[in-house]
Amino acid sequence: MSNSQEERSEPFRIAIIGGGIGGLFCALAIHHHHHHSTLSNKDDNDDGNKNPKRDIQIDVYEQAPQYREIGAGVGMGINAARLLHRLGLGPGLVRVAGQRQGTWFTFRRCRDSGEVVSIPDAAAEPGDVRQSPCARSDLLELFLGAVRERGAAGLHTEKACWWEGGGGRVKVQFRDGTSAIADLVVGCDGVHSVVRDQFVTDSNNKSVESGMIAYRGIVPTSALEPDWPFEHWSNIWVAKHRHFLSYPITGNTQLNIVAFVTKRLGGGRVINDHDNEQKKYMNIRESWSDLCDRDEVAADFAEFDKPVQRIIGLMDARPGRWRINDHEPLSRWHFAGGRVVLVGDAAHAMLPHMGAGAGQSVEDGWILGRALAEYLATSSSSSDTEVGNTRFESLESTMQLYQDVRLPRAQKVQAASRVSGNLYELQTEEMSRLSYEDSLPVLAEALQQRMKFVWSEDVDDSYRRMRDEQAV
Ligand SMILES: Cc1cc2nc3c(=O)[nH]c(=O)nc-3n(C[C@H](O)[C@H](O)[C@H](O)COP(=O)(O)OP(=O)(O)OC[C@H]3O[C@@H](n4cnc5c(N)ncnc54)[C@H](O)[C@@H]3O)c2cc1C
Repeated sequence: MSNSQEERSEPFRIAIIGGGIGGLFCALAIHHHHHHSTLSNKDDNDDGNKNPKRDIQIDVYEQAPQYREIGAGVGMGINAARLLHRLGLGPGLVRVAGQRQGTWFTFRRCRDSGEVVSIPDAAAEPGDVRQSPCARSDLLELFLGAVRERGAAGLHTEKACWWEGGGGRVKVQFRDGTSAIADLVVGCDGVHSVVRDQFVTDSNNKSVESGMIAYRGIVPTSALEPDWPFEHWSNIWVAKHRHFLSYPITGNTQLNIVAFVTKRLGGGRVINDHDNEQKKYMNIRESWSDLCDRDEVAADFAEFDKPVQRIIGLMDARPGRWRINDHEPLSRWHFAGGRVVLVGDAAHAMLPHMGAGAGQSVEDGWILGRALAEYLATSSSSSDTEVGNTRFESLESTMQLYQDVRLPRAQKVQAASRVSGNLYELQTEEMSRLSYEDSLPVLAEALQQRMKFVWSEDVDDSYRRMRDEQAV
């Protein structure tokens, strides 16, 4: 048996580092596409490729003792919801999501809740595909259940990755002294990615502090229901340098709260800093959280209208407090000849203001799964007459295809998220010269079409276009 024949008779090993939303979805997507793939010159759903495919073995290595999500809610935009449905997770998603009742968010004046602008949700699509705000724990459970049910991947815990070596395959070392060998390592280890830090050594490998913090919590809608003054639960109250956001999760039984306050402006000017409290945030690792007293939330939002005060009164006595950071855009997402690749926040941590970071990691996993399946189908092909696509001639060119499809879009969302944060806090350059009242029409105008490009893209179309553009 030749070396390459021997190699092909072994399963292609994929080590996913990090079992958050991005990592688990990626495992499911790779597994799904591998079992539905065809060669690239066939139609997407054509099962006509009868070449025996190389087996795959997927393992997820999570540093924590168990798979769990902290931090309340996460909005799955319709772009990401579509992919969950394509993966067969639609009914589960519908079960755990909240309903936005036709409105993405109504932006309201902070003192009297007067409407500034209502942004319609992306309309539901056939098969009940719709915007899906979820509790993070519900979403992770949905993914975990599917991984287990489908036997999609081996699930490992307490496996903190800290180093990788070179060679034909990649060796991943864990802090407990064990290691794993893989043909492909997928870094899904979040904003503080160890995998990224091994390979990106230029000055762009740095997180960027937004100067904002966010208080987070969940309150029961039943406690607010009796005299809730609005038609729906998705509202954002805006003031200069702060905004208070709420949306429903868990079948509308709970309200997810994220209350943002700018503590330091872009130029470094300190604002909203009661008692020199900046010092407190220095102890929170960037984009990580600790707990605080509810009184702190109450003090920061003291001038907000009654519904906000009622929500704050229902929040846990010790709500979460997060430092909000993103990461500079990276110019490259794959390394070591395509044997190491980044997905999710490891590749493009963004500010939360488009509600799109997790959705972007879902898109990453989907496209990575598609490209990898086509690579494995192509490299398993024994036919000399098969017309090849140069995109799949090596693992490196395949990972480049993944990057070509995903990087520009994810970085567009990353950049837009920065702008949105400053819009919601009424602190863009233009708004900083305007009074509160004069800022509101500017906000209303800017928000009209802002989310469209995130929700409307069909990533499968983009993938096909990019793949076939340079096909031989
Ligand atoms: C306040 C806030 C609100 C947000 N709201 C939304 C929203 O509404 N919609 C949306 O789409 N996005 C939202 N986001 C963004 C979203 O949370 C992230 O984009 C998403 O969680 C990224 O998923 P990930 O799997 O890439 O990373 P993570 O969720 O960070 O997961 C990384 C995983 O890797 C593990 N890990 C880390 N290091 C190692 C290691 N060395 N070895 C092994 N395992 C490791 C971690 O324990 C974790 O389980 C929000 C973010 C914030 C901060």
